[in-house]
Amino acid sequence: MPSLVEALQIILGKVTPLGVERVDLHSALGRVLAKDVAATWDMPHYDNSARDGFALRSADCTVQGATLRITGFIPAGGNVSTPVLGGCAVRIMTGAPIPHNCDAVVPVEETTEADGHVTIMAPVRCRQHIRFQGEDVATGDIVLTAGTVIQSQEISVLASFGKAVVPVYQKARVAVLSTGDELVELGEPPAAGRIINSNAQYLAAALREIGAEPVILCIARDNRENLREQMLAGLKADALITTAGVSAGDRDFVRGVLAELGVRQLLWKVDIKPGGPKAFGMKGGTPVFSLPGNPVSTMITFEEFVRPALLRMMGHRRVIRPYFKATLREETHKKPGTVHCLSVRIEMENGRYIATTTGDHKACRLRTMLRANAVAMLPQEPSVVAAGEEVDVHLLRGDVAMLEELEGIESCEHEDIALPDEENFGGKVRVVKW
Ligand code: AMP
Ligand code: MG
Repeated sequence: MPSLVEALQIILGKVTPLGVERVDLHSALGRVLAKDVAATWDMPHYDNSARDGFALRSADCTVQGATLRITGFIPAGGNVSTPVLGGCAVRIMTGAPIPHNCDAVVPVEETTEADGHVTIMAPVRCRQHIRFQGEDVATGDIVLTAGTVIQSQEISVLASFGKAVVPVYQKARVAVLSTGDELVELGEPPAAGRIINSNAQYLAAALREIGAEPVILCIARDNRENLREQMLAGLKADALITTAGVSAGDRDFVRGVLAELGVRQLLWKVDIKPGGPKAFGMKGGTPVFSLPGNPVSTMITFEEFVRPALLRMMGHRRVIRPYFKATLREETHKKPGTVHCLSVRIEMENGRYIATTTGDHKACRLRTMLRANAVAMLPQEPSVVAAGEEVDVHLLRGDVAMLEELEGIESCEHEDIALPDEENFGGKVRVVKW
């Protein structure tokens, strides 16, 4: 049975970035930039005042208390065609252009005014309080590189350079197919022996969280005809996720029907817990992920296998969450020979990350996921991991970006997965090795 790393290697080696499209800037939030962006012009555009005050020539202020005649006013957006004569100053607002023969701005707080004259109370340095053209960014400088995730800061920069339309990787449209005779849709009362199809709701939300577009299909019952019909619809999307019916039970037809529809199975079962059986295959360029039905297993397998693949399809360069070390609070028992993905709560105590299990995991209880903010990887061999042992963890939610800054974030032993389109795309993906 392949390990988690081997399974990721297979999956990430198969999926490739979707195409590129051009979208309005306001629709680009959360998307991945597909091309480098060069500065269209200098930033600042023109020399301008950093303060409300007076623009003048520093040579006129060599003595303390120099008094100059006020000959004009330049508001933001104002005109600077008239030069400022010797012994004169013009009132200027923050952001207003600097008259060509002025070389300093004196803030209003450092002046006094009387009878149309201004007295300069503080020493004046040449170039003070002026923002010079191009000192932030020069025309042609690369301000954003391909692969950048566009957040509000990037929107600001793109807007500043007049980019009303930007090239981004396409969003993945992902079909979600829940299978099982016992399922009812949300909104229907669950009669005896029935359960609500919560996996579809979870997956729709988890997909939206990563910027993908969910397409929820009707529940497929545990029969071949029904599965075939829904799967055919699902294979029209960029990716298909199925849940349940993937074991070897009497009614577990998912893998069989996918095979009939031409989905080439590349993985079946991965050596991790929880998870149960799970499968991965490709039909042409369309990946198909068959996840176990148990909601906790669905969450963990989505997180560990599906999320990285979809992020890669949507042009992300960092598809694996960063790992860091945390200390296990309690002794934890596990199945020897299998990596356990233990849902934990990470807290900082005395400068160390402490991982506390969030409940009894034997029964794969859903409530364990509510308290969890991270997954701890318990190594393959032992049957017990002692309290106080250091384990590799990655966050499930919370501020990952902040954690990346912290010491120890790359302290785990990594293995590089080379990607097939390495040269023109992202290079390698670093996964943790257990
Ligand atoms: P299975 O993989 O078909 O053996 O299902 C494993 C467990 O997950 C069973 O207890 C199912 O009732 C449950 N399950 C399957 N599909 C869903 C779903 N869509 N939402 C919530 N629970 C599910
Ligand atoms: Mg079932």
